[in-house]
Formats: sequence, C-alpha cells, structure tokens
Amino acid sequence: MKDNYDCIVVGGGPAGSTTAALLAMAGHSTLLVERDAMPRYHLRESLMPETYWTLRRLGVWNQVKRCRSTQPADVQFVLRDGRRPATSEQELDLRECCVTWQVERADLDRLLFDHAASHGAECRDATPVQDVIMDGDHAAGVRIARGAGPVRDVRCRILVDATGQQALLANRLGLRAANEHLRKAAVWGYYRSARREHDEDARGTVILHTAGRESWFWQIPLSEDITSIGVVGDSDYLLEGRGMPAEAFEDELVKCPALIQRLMNAELVSRFHVAREFACTTQRRAGEGWVLVGAAYGFLDPIYSPGVFFAMKSGELAADAIIDGFLKNDLSPRQLGRWTDEYDASGQLFDHVERWDDEPAPDNAAGEVAETLRLPSSDAERFSSE
Ligand SMILES: Cc1cc2nc3c(=O)[nH]c(=O)nc-3n(C[C@H](O)[C@H](O)[C@H](O)COP(=O)(O)OP(=O)(O)OC[C@H]3O[C@@H](n4cnc5c(N)ncnc54)[C@H](O)[C@@H]3O)c2cc1C
Repeated sequence: MKDNYDCIVVGGGPAGSTTAALLAMAGHSTLLVERDAMPRYHLRESLMPETYWTLRRLGVWNQVKRCRSTQPADVQFVLRDGRRPATSEQELDLRECCVTWQVERADLDRLLFDHAASHGAECRDATPVQDVIMDGDHAAGVRIARGAGPVRDVRCRILVDATGQQALLANRLGLRAANEHLRKAAVWGYYRSARREHDEDARGTVILHTAGRESWFWQIPLSEDITSIGVVGDSDYLLEGRGMPAEAFEDELVKCPALIQRLMNAELVSRFHVAREFACTTQRRAGEGWVLVGAAYGFLDPIYSPGVFFAMKSGELAADAIIDGFLKNDLSPRQLGRWTDEYDASGQLFDHVERWDDEPAPDNAAGEVAETLRLPSSDAERFSSE
C-alpha cells in the first residue's frame, strides 16, 4: 500500500467496486478498501434489469452471467387473495437488459471487487477504515487498521464513501438523516424445500402482502432448494413489543395464507436476520475532496429491489465526474456532485413507495417505478438497440 493515491474508495460493495474500477480504468491510482474479508455475506438479492448497463460498461456482464447463482427471473406481485395478476408471455421482453437477475451477493460483490483489481485498482479486503482524515473541510485520506498491524494514514486527492449503511463520512460530517416517512424494518431467514407451485416461483421474486397490508413478504428462490423469505413493515409495528424477531416473523406469516402454503413442508435453515430503519438520505452528497455513492448516499425501500442498481449507477456517475474533474483540473464540490440533482430527480421513488403504503398499489406500480428509474443517460435509448 502506498502513502498517497489519486482516489481512495472506502467500501467494497457494488458501489465502491464500480467506482474504483472506472477510476482505475481511466488511469488514476486508486485504493479500494473493504472492512470484511471477501467474499462476505450480504442479503441475497434481485437485480433490477437496468443494472445490466453498468455491468456491460464495466465489461463484467459475461462473468456475472456465468456465476453459479445467476439466473434470469421476473417479479410477481401476488394479490391479497393469493391470485397473480395475469401476464401474457408475449408481453414479456426477455432480452438480457429487460429481465430481473437473481445473483448471490457474495458472488457478485466478490466478482466486482476482483474486477476492479484486474483493472489496476489496489484492492484490500479485511481492511477497516477507522476514520477519515480531514484537513479543515477537506477530506484528505483515511486511517486504516489492518489485522494486528499498526494503524496507518493513507492520503488521497478524492475520497469516495461507499460504506453502505455504515455511511462513514456522512455520519462523521453529520449529514445523514433517517427518512421519517419510511421507518421500515425487515426480518428474514432462509428455508429449504419451500413449495414453488408455479414455474415462476422457481426463479422469480414473489411479493406478497399480508392481510391488512401492514407488511409484505418477499420470496426469492436461491440455489440448492433454498428460498430467502423476508417480511418488511414499519419498524415500530414489526419490532416493538414483539419479542424475538422470529416471533414477529411468525405473527406476520399467519396473516399471509398464500405464503403459509408455500412453507408448509419447508425447514428453516438459518437464524432470522434483522435490518431496521434503512431508509435514509444525506443533506450533501459531495464536498471538498469527497463524494458519496450507493447506500452511503441514501437508500429508500427494498420493494422494487433498486439498491444494487442505484449503488452501481451512482458509482458510475461519480466516477465520470471525478475523471472529468481531473481532466479539467476542477475538483470542486460542484464538479464532484454535478450528477446528483439529476440522479435524485430520476430516483423519485418516494411517492410510489408511500402510495404503496397508504393506498392499494396501482396495477402498474412496478411499471411506473421502472419509468421513473430510467436515468437521464442514454440507457433508456439503448433498450431499443439491444
Ligand atoms: C431488507 C433489504 C432488502 C434489500 N433487497 C434488495 C434487493 O432485492 N435488490 C437490491 O438491489 N437491493 C436490495 N437492498 C439494498 C442493497 O442491499 C443495498 O442498496 C446495496 O447493497 C448498496 O450497495 P453499496 O455498495 O452502497 O453498499 P454495501 O453493499 O452495503 O457495501 C458497503 C461495504 O462497505 C464496507 N464498509 C463499511 N464500513 C467500512 C469501513 N469503515 N471500512 C471499510 N469498509 C467498510 C462494508 O463491509 C460493505 O462491504 C435491500 C436492502 C434491505 C435493507
């Protein structure tokens, strides 16, 4: 590890690895530091179709497709009575850029981390950043602790915070605010032999509401007959006065007959995991020598599985702004954050998510959100040529 880099990216999730890869590809000396040893567990997830474009730009799409766990899938919203809205095969667009992909996060994140290294980024896992070094308002580097070794200061011209919910820099600068409208929590576990009564259940994400609509479940099939099942609801509702997370999960399950049927002969093969109040935003997204990306920048709600897409897209846009800033010799906060207004406007999921909570979801809720998420780059236009 050197003492100085053009850029240091903290956090080796999809946002950090995307940013680091693009910076290194553009010839900037880049250090990517990840706290955990890779591969590390991360909640298993679906990828929104739009993620395809960033994976293609990185040149890693074919490798992602070949991962043992990667499968093309769709998303089904199941009605309260257990019925599925009818979908005609002819309406489905099965091009690679148009389907949901199920990917084990440990595999995907490892692949993206290694990919950044293969393009020249210096990638260090099991390397927690203890603190950000500030010269006044300017982020000047990081303080790193590695194993039993001495604490070390490493400096840079640009620091990218990609630490996800830990939000190292945003917390240090007091920029992070919980989203009061979306104080959600999730409880999830993994089951073996959950019934997959429809063909789509074998591959696709299924979203099911509980009676009363106070919570909803995801069902995501994994490899080797394991299914991820999670419930999301208001944090107070789901976790307060409910005892252990398993009790909250089971209480909600009782309100979801369509899911009970699927779990009738299934066996729980993990403990229950909990995440709470993950919806948050930041007051500023770029400053003197720093920029935020991914969930460190903000996160809304998992219902449409947008997290990895937003993480990678923000990493891509931030990397472009930094690369252009180096070229123009302009590393001002304005230049580093030049993409954030448009990005925020494109990601206006708040309305949709809140409407989902307060009223019955419109029939075309997913379609509306997909429209909103068509970011201002030429991605949408590329759909027609793929
Ligand atoms: C209940 C729930 C369900 C979700 N479901 C989906 C879904 O189906 N599909 C989807 O796309 N998204 C989903 N998401 C969102 C998704 O998990 C995140 O948006 C995504 O992981 C963000 O990527 P990231 O790279 O910004 O952060 P992360 O993937 O969290 O990566 C951050 C990395 O930073 C590292 N780090 C933290 N602190 C330090 C430090 N001090 N030093 C060094 N490294 C550090 C962490 O170890 C971690 O590896 C879900 C989220 C929740 C809460």
